[in-house]
Amino acid sequence: MKNIKQEVNDFLHRSMDSHVRIAVTGLSRAGKTAFITSLVNQLLHTSTHQQLPLLSATRDKRVIGAKREPQSNMMVPRFAYDEAMNQLQGNNPNWPEPTRDVSEIRLALKYKSTKKTKKLLSSTATLHLDIIDYPGEWLLDLPLLDMDFHQWSQSQFGALSGKRLELAKAWLDELEKVDLNAETDEHLLQSVAESYTQYLHACKEHDLHWVQPGRFVLPGELDGAPVLQFFPCRFDAEEKPARNSNLAMMKARYQEYQTKVVKAFYKHHFSTFDRQIVLVDCLQPLNAGNESFMDMRGALEQLMHSFRYGRSSLVNRLFAPRIDKVLFAATKADHVTPDQHSNLVSLLQQMVHPAWQTASFENIEMSCMSIASIQATQTGFIGNGEQSIPAIQGVSLMGEAMTLYPGEVPKKLPSAAYWDSKGFEFTAFKPMYSEQDEPLPHVRMDKTLEYLIGDKLK
Ligand code: GDP
Repeated sequence: MKNIKQEVNDFLHRSMDSHVRIAVTGLSRAGKTAFITSLVNQLLHTSTHQQLPLLSATRDKRVIGAKREPQSNMMVPRFAYDEAMNQLQGNNPNWPEPTRDVSEIRLALKYKSTKKTKKLLSSTATLHLDIIDYPGEWLLDLPLLDMDFHQWSQSQFGALSGKRLELAKAWLDELEKVDLNAETDEHLLQSVAESYTQYLHACKEHDLHWVQPGRFVLPGELDGAPVLQFFPCRFDAEEKPARNSNLAMMKARYQEYQTKVVKAFYKHHFSTFDRQIVLVDCLQPLNAGNESFMDMRGALEQLMHSFRYGRSSLVNRLFAPRIDKVLFAATKADHVTPDQHSNLVSLLQQMVHPAWQTASFENIEMSCMSIASIQATQTGFIGNGEQSIPAIQGVSLMGEAMTLYPGEVPKKLPSAAYWDSKGFEFTAFKPMYSEQDEPLPHVRMDKTLEYLIGDKLK
């Protein structure tokens, strides 16, 4: 009898457990590592601290606690949480090393449910939370699935203007050396592919974010593999490449990249996500100027194709997508004074809304917020006779204590003229010192959590 009772109890427990996979992405330096570190840190402190008032389950004191669990996907590296915390909580706090590949971490959250059925069955329920980190650059590759090698090459040459054209010069010179019809020369192809990859890296270093193929700049475990060694070529679309020619090899590698890298990512990773947060650093392109800002907008637009689930969409042809909520978060809000946070949100909305509205995003809820995963500044006012103006205070990366008003964030998409008249100087700050047993300081991580998992903790 006892055994049956135990079995029934076990069964009921299992059926009350739920599971959600939250994916975190953003272009490099958008703040993914800082965000995941803070998210895990905030949740691990729910039993001892009350630093998440905007997460309804913690505000109502229904979260009993969180603990780490072994991750479910054994083929993916673990997110380096402990290493990140060691960096952040030393005597000389520093930002953690950014991640360059996909990684994962799992938490179990024990909570008291508000749902009648769950309450009847047991006093507590568990939410298993997988948090997956992957580079946003990988999403820039989706359009490749709809283009053959000729079309893709054309699109890359078509993008060469302004700063891009300057940066591409060395690669274009190298390209001249390739006789596409000659017999495959592995060394030559490798060297030109390296030159093309350097051009893509140079784009990123010059704040141009739209780079294809995205894996070339963040190769992860594929570093050095021939599948990442191709480059756009000039040839006639009708031209049939000779067997074993350089062109035949470029086409073969491109096709391999389409199936083994791009499709594989969507099938094995993307299709398993339930919710997605896209982190966007709007401030850095504002600092960098018009070309960079427009480029970031274009990259975001491209990135949103992955959430276009209309029946005939590319994503839908690949797999049955299940993401039902996407959150766009403007990160590093602590770089500006709190009165500018609403402008930051409306700027981000302007960047993503048009693309969102014109596309068919079936059954996906979307929202925009501004956050600071790890708050590195204090806010206050600087007195100036009668007047006082808002200010932030922090320690620069060079170790200099600073109090400043970094400027206004434009509420709307700025025109090119904007950069002629206004200069932006958003300074980067070191993380603040925090005690080992205290949660990391944050801005609106609780609001973010409410959006992402609030309904799962009901
Ligand atoms: P990733 O490449 O997307 O993983 O980006 P990281 O998380 O490594 O963040 C890149 C840099 O942005 C960090 O080294 C910090 O300098 C800065 N950063 C990230 N999040 C915050 C934040 O919440 N506040 C501040 N002030 N800086 C941040």
